[in-house]
Amino acid sequence: MSAIYRKKTLRLEESKPAVVAVNPCKMCEPIGAVFALKGVADTMVLLHGSQGCATYMRRHMAGHFNEPIDVASSSLSEKGAVYGGEANLVQGLRNVIKSYRPALIGVVTGCLAETIGDDVPRIIKEFEQEIADATNATNVPYIVPVSTPSYRGSQSEGFRVALRSLVERLVSPAGNPNGKINVIPGDCSPADARYIKDLLDRTGVAYTLLPDVSETLDAPMHDSFRPIPEGGTAVEEIESMSDALATVECGGSASGEMSVAGFLERSYGVPGRVIGLPIGLANTDRFLEAVTELTGRPVPDRYMNERGRLLDAMVDAHKVLFGRRPAIYGEADLVEGITTLAVEMGMEPAVIATGGGDAGFAGRIERIVGERGARPVIIPEADFREIHRQVVANEVEFLIGNSS
Ligand code: SF4
Repeated sequence: MSAIYRKKTLRLEESKPAVVAVNPCKMCEPIGAVFALKGVADTMVLLHGSQGCATYMRRHMAGHFNEPIDVASSSLSEKGAVYGGEANLVQGLRNVIKSYRPALIGVVTGCLAETIGDDVPRIIKEFEQEIADATNATNVPYIVPVSTPSYRGSQSEGFRVALRSLVERLVSPAGNPNGKINVIPGDCSPADARYIKDLLDRTGVAYTLLPDVSETLDAPMHDSFRPIPEGGTAVEEIESMSDALATVECGGSASGEMSVAGFLERSYGVPGRVIGLPIGLANTDRFLEAVTELTGRPVPDRYMNERGRLLDAMVDAHKVLFGRRPAIYGEADLVEGITTLAVEMGMEPAVIATGGGDAGFAGRIERIVGERGARPVIIPEADFREIHRQVVANEVEFLIGNSS
């Protein structure tokens, strides 16, 4: 059996209480929600919380993607924290509608709004009624509350909560079948999203990709500034996800309440399949098998050739990487994908850590490494202090994870 460490079971130095994280190995939950909403067309995000949180998200995402990132804020101050933030939120929604004219506004709640307990769904409902009355129900954007207290989870949970909130709010009762599959690609980069779209196009599959950050977070240079970048999943596409043949959702953490595929299956009878992020050979095979089985379309030769070249490269690199002992850390789904690839390459991961991690994380990792007999230390809810301790104690040779 692998060793699974949890914070309360660790013997920490006396200066650190056992429940305190030192430099947590995770990102803020709302930032995952912002990322998901940036993949929806004509959408603006409003963070209900303090100005500093919105600034942090803009700054962090702009630095990562090298794109202008707009995140509006309800700018809660001390007064809002004491008396409630309803007035700020309503004013923020009015400003966003006036300045951006979006088709959808995602209202993401930060730690402050969650802690003071603002009833955001109620505030939004009353605001929607007010503007519907004032405009005779024309030009009323969807306003979607996304509850993301960061002390509950990580970026991964924020991403999934946003998607789940979107489909709950937007998807209409099933109409005529549209012959598409819904693809939830997981927490992937704009280049990954472009690759998946290209693959589905070449396979001749009609699809709805949610979210689609391929253009919105990697836009071409334009002559003029566009407040909301082009691209993203159209609101109408999300509305008709109930008409699809099936849903393929990537990421092992997409289970239970977090799963879009599960929601669409339970609510509208759309069959769903959850697989790991398509990283490495086995997970990519599973993705392609799911797509081809559900649509009846064969895999184009170019992808069979690409698979063969990957296998060839893995065999070539195997003699260098066999038996190496990396530590792998980051968001849970990404860690699972990279661990699968590392094990396929013959490595023996010594430490596997994530700052979040759902209840099934350790079990899924044990299944991946167990097939090859590796016995890593698995650390859910990790901070970098724990990771450092385990890296030193377990003769780790190198680290695989994010650098910031
Ligand atoms: S206070 Fe909460 S919402 Fe704001 S940046 Fe920090 S973790 Fe994120």
